[in-house]
Amino acid sequence: MSVGTNLRQLAAAGWPLACALATAAMPAGAGPVAIDVGHYLARPGATSAYGVSEFEYNHALAAVLAARLAADGVAVRLIGHRGEMEDLRARPREAEEAGAAFFLSIHHDSVKAEFQQPWIWQGQEQLYSDYASGFSLFVSRKNPRLDESLACASAIGAALRGAGLRPTPHHAEVATGVGRPWADELNGVYYYDNLVVLKSATVPAVLLEAGVIVHPAEAAELATAARRTLTADAVARGLRECGVTTLR
Ligand SMILES: [Zn+2]
Repeated sequence: MSVGTNLRQLAAAGWPLACALATAAMPAGAGPVAIDVGHYLARPGATSAYGVSEFEYNHALAAVLAARLAADGVAVRLIGHRGEMEDLRARPREAEEAGAAFFLSIHHDSVKAEFQQPWIWQGQEQLYSDYASGFSLFVSRKNPRLDESLACASAIGAALRGAGLRPTPHHAEVATGVGRPWADELNGVYYYDNLVVLKSATVPAVLLEAGVIVHPAEAAELATAARRTLTADAVARGLRECGVTTLR
C-alpha cells in the first residue's frame, strides 16, 4: 500500500515541478489560488486507520491539485507545504501578501474517539471507524467575503458529487456529533465560523475535508493517485464555475 509515502520523496518528486509550473503559469492580473496544506509535521492532525498522518494525505493531495491548476494555466501559491507552519493566522496572511484570489485549505477528516476502535495493522495497533465516510466543505460567517466563499464551496461540492463522491453528514449530527449547521446540505457545505484560517482570511476562503482517513476503505482509496486526481479535477472545475479561475 502506498499510504506511507516518504515526505522527502514527495518533496523531491512533486513540489519543485508544481512550484515551477505555478510560477510560470501565472496569468496577468489574476492573483494566485492559495493552497494551504493543513497541519504541520510536529502536529500532523488526524491519523488514518493505517497509522498514516493527515499531514501526509494533505501534502500529497495539495501537490496533485497544484499540478492540476498549473496545467490549466492557474497560478498557485502553496502554503505550509514544508510542514513548518505552526501559526494558523500566518497561513491566510501569507495568501494575502501573495495577492491571492482565493484561499483553499486542504484537510482529511476523522470521527470522534468514541466511534473509533482498535485493530492491528502490520503488527501495530491503530484506530479505525466505519462510522462516516465522504467529503465535506466548510465556510466561516466571520469571513468578510462569505458569499463568494460559499458560492465556491457549493461549486466544489457539486463538482465532487458530479465525480461520484458523496458528502458526509456526520458533522451535522446533534446527538452524536457537533451539530454544525449546514450552509448547503446538498453539496456538503457546513458553517464553521471560528475556523481560524477561514475567519482570519480577507479573501474568499474554503476548507475541504477530502475524505475520512480513519475509515479503512476510504483511507485506502484516498491514498491512491486515482482518488487524488478525481478530487483535484473536481476542485479545479468548481473554482472555474464559481469564477475564481479561467482556463487559459
Ligand atoms: Zn485537518
